Amino acid sequence: MKRILFLSLVFIFTLAPFSLACASEPIKILLVPGHDNEIWGAQYGNLKEADMNLRLATDIYNILKKDKRFNVFITRNKNGYTKEFVDYFFTQRDNIVLFKENAKKKTQDEISNGTFIKKDGVQHISASEDTAIKLYGINKWAKEKNMDAVVHIHFNDYPRKTKWTMGKYKGFAIYMPDGHFLNAKESAQLAGNIFAQLSQKYITSTYGKEEGGLISDHELIALGANNTLSEGVRSVLIEYGYIYRFWNDSMRYRSYKTMADLTVRGVKNYFFKK
Ligand SMILES: [Zn+2]
Repeated sequence: MKRILFLSLVFIFTLAPFSLACASEPIKILLVPGHDNEIWGAQYGNLKEADMNLRLATDIYNILKKDKRFNVFITRNKNGYTKEFVDYFFTQRDNIVLFKENAKKKTQDEISNGTFIKKDGVQHISASEDTAIKLYGINKWAKEKNMDAVVHIHFNDYPRKTKWTMGKYKGFAIYMPDGHFLNAKESAQLAGNIFAQLSQKYITSTYGKEEGGLISDHELIALGANNTLSEGVRSVLIEYGYIYRFWNDSMRYRSYKTMADLTVRGVKNYFFKK
């Protein structure tokens, strides 16, 4: 009897800090459906990437929302950016520009003194000034609100002349911050957990530069370019597949559901099954 009591006490004390932490502090996740209604990213026929990103992000949001261990946020909904972000971009615009310029200057200093060496990676379309301000704004917001993770949701395309025809690549890829960024280590773990789930159902990108499907990157603002995310803010950018592969409506809707389920499973495995 004593032994049982002792064992149960050990059990309670081992679990207590974890469950108390969970009860008082849910994991804060920001979902960022890539692009927006003004600049919608890739397009294939009538299919716009921003709409697909939103649809999938909303499915992920709805699943996470049901789990009390998470406090989930999203940057936009069917009406555009949420009030939180419309207000933030508007009232904080000058501060966001300052935040961006300071961060860039710091990187330039690091490049000049040799502590940071730029690598060649996948070519990204450079963001317009307005898009850059939004993305840096999202980083600034995530940092101030102590998000535990920021997940960017995208569908892919690649530079080609005939955008109205089917492209040749397929498969998913997950981008994570370059090794020298503050949030690199934990982001890589989160990316790995999501990768493990998605790869059960989908092949990894057949595009040479995305080989292996897990890519570290130092240029994507979303991942915290110029070290704009702090250590505790994990960031991943998921390219779920090449847009032209999802032209069929029913196949696309089924894919959203499967992709959302697998992503959430990866997120939960990372946070709760270490
Ligand atoms: Zn995109």
